[in-house]
Amino acid sequence: MSSEKSTESQPAAKTTTSTKTQKTTQKATKKKAAKKKAAKKKASQKVELPSLDYDDMREQLAEWYSHQQRELPWREIKDPYATWVSEIMLQQTRVATVIPYFLRFMERFPTVTELANADLDDVLAQWSGLGYYRRARHLHAGAQEVVERFGGELPANHKELLSIKGIGRYTAGAIASIAFDLPYPAVDGNVYRIFSRIACLDDPVNSPALHRTCEAIASQIVQGESPGDLTQAMMELGALVCTPKSPACLLCPVREHCKAYATGQTLAYPVPKKTTKVRDMTVQWAMLQRDEHILLVQRPADGLFAGLWELPGLYLPHPGPDHTNDLQAHLTSLGLIATLQPEPRHYQHTLSHRRMHIALYQSEAIEGSVSLPPDTFQWVQLDDHPNLPISSITRQVFTSLLREE
Ligand code: SF4
Repeated sequence: MSSEKSTESQPAAKTTTSTKTQKTTQKATKKKAAKKKAAKKKASQKVELPSLDYDDMREQLAEWYSHQQRELPWREIKDPYATWVSEIMLQQTRVATVIPYFLRFMERFPTVTELANADLDDVLAQWSGLGYYRRARHLHAGAQEVVERFGGELPANHKELLSIKGIGRYTAGAIASIAFDLPYPAVDGNVYRIFSRIACLDDPVNSPALHRTCEAIASQIVQGESPGDLTQAMMELGALVCTPKSPACLLCPVREHCKAYATGQTLAYPVPKKTTKVRDMTVQWAMLQRDEHILLVQRPADGLFAGLWELPGLYLPHPGPDHTNDLQAHLTSLGLIATLQPEPRHYQHTLSHRRMHIALYQSEAIEGSVSLPPDTFQWVQLDDHPNLPISSITRQVFTSLLREE
């Protein structure tokens, strides 16, 4: 029997191997064809550069920026690291909000090396309240990479900048042009808005076609002796003059080139994107108190509020249950039996794509001990929260609780 089995299994094994090889070859051929197709598609999407007087626009922007630029702390230091930190902080965040965070961050981590050597929790604590914490984690990881690969100095090379974790096209362009005066554009929402108006570009603001055209236009602008000033001139024009809802065209240095202004359509550009739906979610948090300390647990390294600390609890699709059975079961899985007050406190918090409906249950008594790994939970005093890496909603909750005490 066994020899029969063995004899029969030999050719079968060969067949499996040859099928596998065939499949691998087919996969590789398909991949190659897809690559070729993508390259062909890219080549066919050649950007048509709008016909504009780029030399004139460049001169007007440079002249305007030399008189109108705002004094901002990151403009006072010609330091690639300061440019990097400021540009990351400024993504989706207003200048006025960023200034105090930037000053504190640079005082705490004045060099790439000091940031690289810092504890991630410390970095997140400095970032706390600024939101989009993934930026802080990437900045920290990027700093470690700069130390390992470039001896702690950001490279004066666009391609190498792009190879660093957390540095995308926009940031690489900003660092290359502002800190090293290299002719690379930094194209963000301001630039899309300005050039879609100047050239009356009809592609929606979130479309790759619009991005390609605006990048090509901006590349024409950031030429000559001071690409850094021209990059900042575009940022400044978008922030101060060519604003989303009420562009101050009469103050605009490039008004004579603007087709939207000439045709009275400034507010029709950029063409809006399809809106993203905000999803509702329910969060149940338990505030477990023991000897005037409350329990915090660390969130997983990926996803919403990754790596930050918060009250133990559950994130549920909306509408969540109006009972605490699941929350109690979750606490039991952490090793704790808690008597929770029946009436929760309610909070609401909106993120870019989610609206959180929070029910906070306070504990009357708890038994047991936490069974989590020691570095993923801690007992803290509520008034210690300013020093902790927590999200802004957790901070708001703690502040309101302290106010009521
Ligand atoms: S003229 Fe008006 S719409 Fe055109 S770029 Fe200047 S501020 Fe923007």
